Amino acid sequence: MPPDLDAFKIWLSGCGGEVLGPVNEWEVIRVRTSVGILVAHRTRRGRQIWPAALLALAQQFERGEIPALAATRRGRTPSRLRQRFAALAARDGAGCFFCGHAVPAPGVTCDPDMAPTIEHLVPVAHGGPNHLSNCFLAHRRCNAAAGTLSAAEKVRLRDAMRKERRVSA
Ligand SMILES: [Zn+2]
Repeated sequence: MPPDLDAFKIWLSGCGGEVLGPVNEWEVIRVRTSVGILVAHRTRRGRQIWPAALLALAQQFERGEIPALAATRRGRTPSRLRQRFAALAARDGAGCFFCGHAVPAPGVTCDPDMAPTIEHLVPVAHGGPNHLSNCFLAHRRCNAAAGTLSAAEKVRLRDAMRKERRVSA
């Protein structure tokens, strides 16, 4: 495994990989690549377990190679979004976390501003996990308005948007 994990992550991103937030405390690294999502984790005793595909990438990193790691959009985003949409709609209903209006299902023709997106309450950039417990449905427009606000600021934005909706209704 690479001695400098942060440098390895930067290299992965530079090659088109998508470094994802950890799903639990045991994960050392989680990255989406052209060969799927690769995860290394540590055991209770502190030993790290790396899958062969990720070790192979670490070797390429050490050799200074630049493989193309971007996951193809076709075949991943739609089914992944559909899966998450279904799980979140079952949990919360298909309303936008922010404005409360219905979010159309993935694949349904709609205004691009109203397209379904997955909002991370604690942004991934702030260390938020990609787990469903941190995810909510939101329109693209509303998700973009929230940007990388903190969770508390997002809740305030949501309250303001819903109040506005009640006043205008
Ligand atoms: Zn919305």
